Amino acid sequence: MHRPGQIIDSHIHLVTSGTHEVKLRRLSGLAPCLVEAYRRRWNDSLASRREETPEADPAHVQIVAKRWEAALDAAGVERGVFFTSPDYHDDLLTFISLNPGRFIGYTTFDPTDCANADLLRRQIDEHLVRGLKLYPMALGFRVDDEACDEVYEVCEKKGIPVIIHFGISINAMHDLRYGNPLDLSGPALRFPSVNWIIPHFGAGFFRETLMVSVQHRNVHIDTSSSNNWVSWDPHGLTVADLFRRTVDAVGSERLIFGTDSSFFPRGYRTNILNDQLAICHDLGLSPEQIDDIFRGNIQRILDTHVPARPRSQDGPG
Ligand SMILES: [Zn+2]
Repeated sequence: MHRPGQIIDSHIHLVTSGTHEVKLRRLSGLAPCLVEAYRRRWNDSLASRREETPEADPAHVQIVAKRWEAALDAAGVERGVFFTSPDYHDDLLTFISLNPGRFIGYTTFDPTDCANADLLRRQIDEHLVRGLKLYPMALGFRVDDEACDEVYEVCEKKGIPVIIHFGISINAMHDLRYGNPLDLSGPALRFPSVNWIIPHFGAGFFRETLMVSVQHRNVHIDTSSSNNWVSWDPHGLTVADLFRRTVDAVGSERLIFGTDSSFFPRGYRTNILNDQLAICHDLGLSPEQIDDIFRGNIQRILDTHVPARPRSQDGPG
């Protein structure tokens, strides 16, 4: 079975003592019935996958960085794209700085707040941020709201990708009214040079994900997570079907590997990497196609980044 020499995981959540504290603070501000719904959904999801529960007190960012270096080494993964779920940036920026050759960081915030256009510019130029992750269902905005355009203009100018969670979520607070990938059609049309990424094959919205990807060549699909949403799919899709139908519809060059790894002690989800390599092998994809899915495609997207000019070259105007 072909295994790419170098693998980039394009979807890992950074969980630290800092991100955990923010999460707990936000939960404490919610009505008890919502907190209960949140915990039940999270626990049910873990139980359905028979996985270890996350540690109660995630470690400090410095320790988490050491753990990720070891976990990526053990899995034979060269680099990872990391982002936080809450819009809390301190630990993400510290994390990237601890090993910028290996940790690729995407920031996250509410893009309808135009003050975040400046924040994004600064994080790209000064902190090596290389992408933007959006959670429209968590914050209750539509990605086609033109209030987001100032932020999207920065993504266009700086050549950074935007990854957007659509569809079913492990978070019971997420509102599916904001989770339809068809909302991406407007931004994809208005910003044709931006690379847009839909994770988890659309997490239930597979048909819509393929539609928007066929319509717009700048839309890509990430393979991350166990994709266990297929167990509720009314058409009886399997994860292998998701790969096959995507390659048939838009080609392997727009499929991007990720695991959706997040917390310790579970660490890196090597089982997902191995399962997805086996699926690609069984589908008869060529070694070149497999290299693209597990590394080349995300590398090409990251390479469109326009680095900040050194200050000495800044001219007037
Ligand atoms: Zn994720």
